[in-house]
This record gives sequence, structure tokens and C-alpha cells, in this order.
Amino acid sequence: RSSAVSVAPILTKLKHECATPLPLLRHVADAMAADMRAGLAVDGGSDLKMILSYVDSLPTGNEKGLFYALDLGGTNFRVLRVQLGGKEERVIDTEFEQVSIPQELMFGTSEDLFDFIASGLDKFAQKEGEKFYLPPGRKREIGFTFSFPVRQTSIDSGILIKWTKGFAVSGTAGRDVVACLNEAMERQRLDMRVSALVNDTVGTLAGARYWDDDVMVAVILGTGTNACYVERTDTIAKLQGHDSSSGRTIINTEWGAFSNGLPLTVFDSDMDDASINPGEQIFEKTISGMYLGEIVRRVLLKIAEAGAFGDSIPEKLSTPFVLRTPDISAMQQDNSDDLKAVGSILYDITGVESNLSARKIVVEVCDTVVKRGGRLAGAGIVGILQKMEEDSQGLIFGKRTVVAMDGGLYEHYPQYRRYLQDAVTELLGLEISKNVIIEHSKDGSGIGAALLAAANSKYE
Ligand code: ADP
Repeated sequence: RSSAVSVAPILTKLKHECATPLPLLRHVADAMAADMRAGLAVDGGSDLKMILSYVDSLPTGNEKGLFYALDLGGTNFRVLRVQLGGKEERVIDTEFEQVSIPQELMFGTSEDLFDFIASGLDKFAQKEGEKFYLPPGRKREIGFTFSFPVRQTSIDSGILIKWTKGFAVSGTAGRDVVACLNEAMERQRLDMRVSALVNDTVGTLAGARYWDDDVMVAVILGTGTNACYVERTDTIAKLQGHDSSSGRTIINTEWGAFSNGLPLTVFDSDMDDASINPGEQIFEKTISGMYLGEIVRRVLLKIAEAGAFGDSIPEKLSTPFVLRTPDISAMQQDNSDDLKAVGSILYDITGVESNLSARKIVVEVCDTVVKRGGRLAGAGIVGILQKMEEDSQGLIFGKRTVVAMDGGLYEHYPQYRRYLQDAVTELLGLEISKNVIIEHSKDGSGIGAALLAAANSKYE
């Protein structure tokens, strides 16, 4: 059989189905804006949960004093302290540490996990250097970044809905995670208090806003994806009895669950069917780092079956998730004439042996999937901005507005970043897109949580 004959139509079909022409992007942006409105109207009104963060006051730059941050969101937890010096001095000093969580604690009891965290925090607090200073009579305050689904009940409390990301800790679901931490700190005789419980996107927004008053939106593009933004409280119908003196509050969109109008292929639906959460997190499965490599692998397997790489199909290529997003990113950075790096990455990871024309096809597949992801992420961002602009004519598009970006995918995949920016520029047009700055805010979420502890301090 001739591979050129059977492979070409697969590629053509893939490119056709992954295409994101301007009208499609516009439809996605409009649908994002509409879903946001539906989610703000009533709980459960939309794919988008539009979770209230209870963060009504953002950092101004005037924050002063010693604050801690604790970040639990994966297999590591991170602790950080910062001495803030106000408008002029800003961040006087900061120290941080990362502690990996032993595997058995991810499957243990809630007490054991929180005891471990409190003990790590205690050890870190005992090493406080001379540059850090707490006024007499005050406790050390913590901003707690907790990146699991939480139903927030106030700025400093929230009920864990369920563990995700491989955690299966017993006894936490349905409980206030701040109370769990407080109890563990008491057992440890560690006299600190949690002043803010925040999602990592909210932390990123706060961290970026500290340096730039025009930051209105934050987006994480890493293993997963999420976005949050500054909303006017008078547009939130489902908000009952919650007063915000600023008239503003941060909404955590949980936009990974968006699904409207996305251009999907059989490779996407097969991957979804095989996932632990079929039918859920469709936007996330189309644009985020956990999945881009796997979609490419599924396409490569299909073209391997059509004979693109000779007669045999290496077993490794049939293994779900062997090809990771950093691998396809590395392949796309190969500028050599013979695509040597593409060939060796492909061989090392999937066992596929390739000639130059096969390598070109592989790069084209990567580019097709990544282009769709980046452009759809861009359309999502425009959807958020568009919703904000509709409610405050001119206050978003008529002036400088910054979108703070973070996450390994955005940080390390230049093509993805470019496609995202292109889509934003196409959708907004040259004039307006000059006002919309999409910029990387590296690791802002740690300091952001400490800043939110300061902005929500119990002492002022
Ligand atoms: P997380 O989202 O897991 O909290 P990060 O924000 O650091 O952490 O994102 C890690 C993710 O970023 C990885 O799962 C991967 O998908 C993506 N990533 C990491 N390095 C690269 C790279 N070199 N190229 C493309 N994507 C990358």
C-alpha cells in the first residue's frame, strides 16, 4: 500500500476539522460571554461555575508587613514569606521552600495530610531571617492557595467538594479546608492564622495586580486551565447578601468546563471517552498541556496504521499519554533541514522510525493541534473581555487592559503563545488590540496569596 495516498486524506481531514477561522473564533468568544452570564445568573445555570472568590479588595501596593503563603495544588506544597514595604519599598524580601508530599499521604487521612503540611510550615516559620519582622501582638497571617474544587463560603473558608489530581484523602470532602489546617496548626502548637483562601488563578490575578493596576483577568495554561477576572457585583444576579464595599469581586470562571461551539475531531472524542471524566472539561481537553500531546499521539497512531511510518506500529505509540506536550513542543523547535531532533524525539518516545517526509507530517500534526488550542484559548480570553466591556462601555477596550498569564504551557510553548496572541488580535482588530496586553506573570500566584492575606488582614 502507498502511504502517501492513505495518509494525505487523514491530514486534510484533521486540518479541516481543527480549523479555527475568524467566524468560528467569534462564535466561541460570544458563547463564552453568554455562558458567563448564564453562570452568574443562577448556580448551575451554565457549564461555567462562575465561583465567587470573596476577594473584593485587590492589592494596591500599599500593603505593609510580614505575610506567609501556603500553596497546595499538586504533588508539592510550597511555603513562602514576604516582607512588604508599601508603595515605595514594595517587596523588601521573600523566601520560599518546596516540600514534596509523600505518596502515602495522598491516600491517607485528612489529619495526616494536614499535620504534614502544618509541620512543614512550622519548620519553615522557625527559619525566619532577620529581614522579616512582625509587630508585637500580631499573629503571622497566611494566604492559602488551594487548587482543588472548593465551594467558597467567605474569604477565609471553603468546603472541599472533592479531591482531584490523584489525591484520595479520606475525611476532607465536605469539610472546611481552612478549619482542617487550623486544627492541624493547633495540634502543632503553631500560632498562625489563615486570612485568605484562594484559588491559584485568583492568586495570579492578585500577584500581577500588585505591580500593575490595569490587570483585570488572569489565565492559567499549564497541565489544566482556568481563568478569573474582576467583576462588578451589580451584574451578579446569584449573589445574595454578599456586600462588597468596592463594588467589585473576583469571579473564578472554572472555564475548563466550557464546551460550546468547539471544533472537535474523532481523536478528541476518543480521548474523552477513555478519560476519567468523560463529557467533562472539554475546553480543558482541547487547549491545555495535559492533553495536547495525547491528541497528537492519537493522530500519529492513526497515520501509522495508514502506513506513514512503514509496516509495523511500535507498541509505545499505542500507549496513552506517552507523548507529552513538552515533547511536541520540543519537536516544533527543531529548525534543522533534516528535522533530526524530531526524528530522535519521535524514536525515543514512541519508537517510530521516520524519514524526512514522515517527520514533516509529524510536525504538521503537532502544529495543527497546537494552533487550534492556542487560538481557542485566545477566543476564550476575548469572550471574557467582551463580557466585561458590554457591562462597562469603554472601560475595557477604551483603555489599557492587562491579562496576566501563567502556567508551563504558556511559558514554554512559543508557537502556542503566538497562536493565542494572533487570535486575540484578529478578533479585536488592530486598534483595540493595542489596548489589550497579554503578558506572562511568572509565579505571581504565591506572592499573590500572601498579598491577599495582607489585603484581607484581620488587623486593619
Ligand atoms: P501545573 O499546571 O501542573 O500546576 P505548570 O503551570 O508548571 O504546573 O504546568 C506544567 C505543564 O506545562 C505540563 O503539564 C506541560 O503540559 C506544560 N509544559 C511544561 N513544559 C513545557 C514545554 N517545554 N513545552 C510545552 N508545554 C510544557
